[in-house]
Amino acid sequence: MTDTLTHFIGGEAEGGDAVGESINPSNLDDVVARYPKGTAADVDRAVKAAREAFPGWSEASPEVRSDVLDRAGTIVMQRAKELGELLSREEGKTLPEGMGEVMRAARILKYFAGEALRRHGQTLESTRPGLDVSTYREAVGVFGLITPWNFPIAIPAWKAAPALAFGNTVVMKPATPTPAIAHALVAIIHEAGAPPGVFNLIIGEGGIGSAIVDHPDVDGISFTGSQGVGALVGQGAMKRQTRVQMEMGGKNPLVVLDDADLERAVTCAIDGAFFGTGQRCTASSRIIVTEGIHDRFVEALAERARSLRVGDALDPNSQIGPAVSESQLEQNLKYVEIAKGEGGKVLTGGGPLELDKRGFYMAPTVIADTAPDQRINCEEVFGPVASTVRVKDYDEALEIANRGQFGLSAGIVTNSLKYSRDFRKRIRAGMVMVNLPTAGVDYHVPFGGTRKSSYGAREQGFAAVEFYTQTKTVYVGG
Ligand code: NAP
Repeated sequence: MTDTLTHFIGGEAEGGDAVGESINPSNLDDVVARYPKGTAADVDRAVKAAREAFPGWSEASPEVRSDVLDRAGTIVMQRAKELGELLSREEGKTLPEGMGEVMRAARILKYFAGEALRRHGQTLESTRPGLDVSTYREAVGVFGLITPWNFPIAIPAWKAAPALAFGNTVVMKPATPTPAIAHALVAIIHEAGAPPGVFNLIIGEGGIGSAIVDHPDVDGISFTGSQGVGALVGQGAMKRQTRVQMEMGGKNPLVVLDDADLERAVTCAIDGAFFGTGQRCTASSRIIVTEGIHDRFVEALAERARSLRVGDALDPNSQIGPAVSESQLEQNLKYVEIAKGEGGKVLTGGGPLELDKRGFYMAPTVIADTAPDQRINCEEVFGPVASTVRVKDYDEALEIANRGQFGLSAGIVTNSLKYSRDFRKRIRAGMVMVNLPTAGVDYHVPFGGTRKSSYGAREQGFAAVEFYTQTKTVYVGG
């Protein structure tokens, strides 16, 4: 069945003239949805609707906001199977991963239903007698949310839920490959009782994102996506001196030391590099291995990668789904060629897969004997491609892990307390994993990186209050 999507402006579902198609990457004959392509004029109307809704929503009691989010979380849970299938059909992650992401979105909505009730003020003693000083955290206004396709319901939820919980209104633009699942989330938040104009959705291409960034009445922008687009969003926000938060790419190192348990190290690498088709900002895309375990590890990694079953995301036998789009598949294949040209040895995979259905399938790929500063180890591929680097010892591994422009997540597999403690302290990354893949995070704790992976306040959990509220300090004289 093909869904017909709409924008949401001021609580009204609105179609449009220009129509795009969201295609199932596991089966190119399947059109998941047809959607209207928004315009800058639609963004303007959505921002106006959000502005009009702001006073009522920000002044509503916290219980009202909490109840909407809690009800939305319940609806998402009740419809998890249907939503999980839609997500997997539209984005291409396997059904267990799709269902897992839907449940995560539901938990995020419920978590922020709780956070809506937490009061954040402080009373401070003045240095001057007879004065009371307090701080309050208040809603900021209208937020623009620009989201990627790789977590197409969890990321909209982890931006929108705190924005709404703390009394803001929003205009969201989902990524072009995955509008249907974002549309479903916005419809559910309306069904749960969000008043008109509180949550607006404009579907369309990159221009919709820049129209949001440039709009003079948008008070803050939360962006997740590639580093290149993030740089444009950051420049646009700075031009208007608007608050902005950006979560971007990664080239996350997984360090494997001689003393690691081999089986555990291979499992961490397989999970981190290939699950979600490697389309995770936290994917373990470069694996740095000390020489005592190197040959055994690389051989076992290639063997496990070879055994992974790639197929239709909705097929219960599939462990790895397709790339999200033709351009993403082409990018993956281009990086394999670049790595080969740089002297890398493809141990398994390296090419597209022809299966029963026409889809963007690619074999999980392990490229060995790469050097740390080659492009394959510096640039984000965003596909099922892992490169390995041989090093002498821990010190060299740490030094190489700390190279590059990104600093999102980093992992180490070792039984040494000494090295794991040292790694935690000296690795330049926002998230550190010990004896775990670099991907796989909790929804109630801060998320984000360093250097060119992230900019601004952390997302998720208790950290979200920093970005979605502003502090007001009040002095009261006698
Ligand atoms: P992308 O191409 O940067 O797009 C992200 C969003 O920005 C999309 O909605 C896109 O719209 C929109 N956009 C495009 N051009 C724009 C412009 N000039 N101004 C404003 N918005 C614009 O990223 P993606 O391919 O969707 O997602 C993959 C990337 O996201 C990877 O780099 C990954 O590492 C990163 N990511 C980071 C995190 C994190 O938390 N650090 C999490 C998930 C993903 P269109 O789709 O219509 O082009």
